[in-house]
Amino acid sequence: MPRTTLASLTTLRLGGPIDEPLRLSDPADWPELVQTVRGRGEFSPLVLGHGSNVIGADSGHAGTIAVMNTRGISVKKQADGTVLATAQAGHPLTDLVAWAAAEQLSGVECLAGIPGTVGAAPVQNAGAYGQQIGDVLDHLTAWDWESGVLRTLPGRACRLRYRDSRFKNSPGRWTVLTVTVRLLRTPPAPVRYRPLIDELGAGAGATPPVAEVTAAVLANRHRRGLLLDPHSPDARQVGSVFLNPAVTAVQAERWSAAGCPVHTDSDGQLRAGAGWFLELAGCHPGRRITENVRCSEARTLTLSAHGDATASDFTRVLTALAERVEAATSITLRPEPVAVGTWLVNDRCEPGGRQRPTLR
Ligand SMILES: Cc1cc2nc3c(=O)[nH]c(=O)nc-3n(C[C@H](O)[C@H](O)[C@H](O)COP(=O)(O)OP(=O)(O)OC[C@H]3O[C@@H](n4cnc5c(N)ncnc54)[C@H](O)[C@@H]3O)c2cc1C
Repeated sequence: MPRTTLASLTTLRLGGPIDEPLRLSDPADWPELVQTVRGRGEFSPLVLGHGSNVIGADSGHAGTIAVMNTRGISVKKQADGTVLATAQAGHPLTDLVAWAAAEQLSGVECLAGIPGTVGAAPVQNAGAYGQQIGDVLDHLTAWDWESGVLRTLPGRACRLRYRDSRFKNSPGRWTVLTVTVRLLRTPPAPVRYRPLIDELGAGAGATPPVAEVTAAVLANRHRRGLLLDPHSPDARQVGSVFLNPAVTAVQAERWSAAGCPVHTDSDGQLRAGAGWFLELAGCHPGRRITENVRCSEARTLTLSAHGDATASDFTRVLTALAERVEAATSITLRPEPVAVGTWLVNDRCEPGGRQRPTLR
C-alpha cells in the first residue's frame, strides 16, 4: 500500500508514516468505507478533516485514516421563518459562513475564519467572538461505530460545552457525516464581544448586517494572527494551544486583579485567559521557546513549528510550559489540539509525559 505521512494531513505538518488514507468525497460511498474498515479488522478509522486541531504522532498511525472531503449544503425553509442548512462533514466551515453571509442568514457569522471542516466543528464546539457552533446546531447525523448504525442526534444530545462534546470524549466511536444548523433571516444578535464592537466601530448592542459582521471578524482575526496563512512564518500551527482554564470565583478575583482577562463561558463557568498565564511564564509574541517551536509573531497562545521540529518537540514544549505555569500559579493548562496517532507515553502532552526540553 502507498505510504504517506500524518504531517501531510495536518496544518502543523508534523507526524510520521501512514498508509494512504481513505478519502470520502461522495456521501454515497460511506457504506463502502465502513466495510473496508471492518474488513481490516478495525473498530473505527482515525477521522480527519483539515487537520487544523491535531498533533500527529512522529510514529504515525498504524490503522486506517479517513479524510472527510464531502461537500455541499442543502436548505430547508421552516414555517417559523428559520432556515435549516445541512452541510456535509467535509464542507469547509469558512465556506458555510461565507454562504450564510451571502444569503443574509445569521447565526454563524462570528465563526468566520475558523479553519477546518463543518463535521469537526461540533467535536470541540468550535467558536469565537462569543458564538459557537452549539448555539445554532439543530441536529447532526453521525455513524456510531459501536452499534454500526447511522444516528441522528439533536443538538442537545451532542453535549456541547466550552471546546468539548460527547464526540471529543469518546474518540473513535462517532464519525459526523452531516451537520444541520438553524439560521435566521434577520440581523445578527446584538454584538457584545468588545474586540468586534471596536472593529465594527459600532456602539455596544448594534446589529449590523451579517456580511458586515463576517468581514469585521475576518479583519480582526487577520490583525490578531488568527487566520491560517500558508505564506506566514507561522503557517505551521493549530491556533490556540491551550484551553482557557476553568477557575473558581476566588481565583478569578485574584487573577483578574493581577490583569488576567476572565470571562464566563456559555455554561456559566468562569475561565481565565490561557495566553495571560503563558506570558506570566515568560512567553510573548515571536518568542523562540526552543530551536524549532516559537510563539507566533502575533500571539502568545499560538505556537508554531519550524524547521525540523518533531511532534514530540512540540508536545514536550506544551508540557514544559504547562508545568511552569502550574508551578507558578497552581493553574492547570490543558492542550486544545488533539494528539492523534501512536504516541510514546513520554511524549504525550499530558500528565505522564516525562521528557522536557530546555526552554530558552
Ligand atoms: C489559525 C487557526 C485558528 C483557529 N481558530 C479557532 C477558533 O477561533 N475557534 C476554535 O474553536 N478553533 C479554532 N481553531 C482550531 C480548529 O480550526 C477547529 O478545531 C476546527 O473545528 C478543526 O477542524 P478540522 O477539520 O481541521 O479538524 P481536524 O483537526 O481534522 O480534527 C479535529 C478533531 O476532530 C475529529 N474529527 C474531525 N472530523 C470529524 C468528523 N467528521 N467526525 C468525527 N470526528 C471528527 C478528529 O478526529 C480530531 O479529533 C483554529 C486553528 C487554526 C490553525
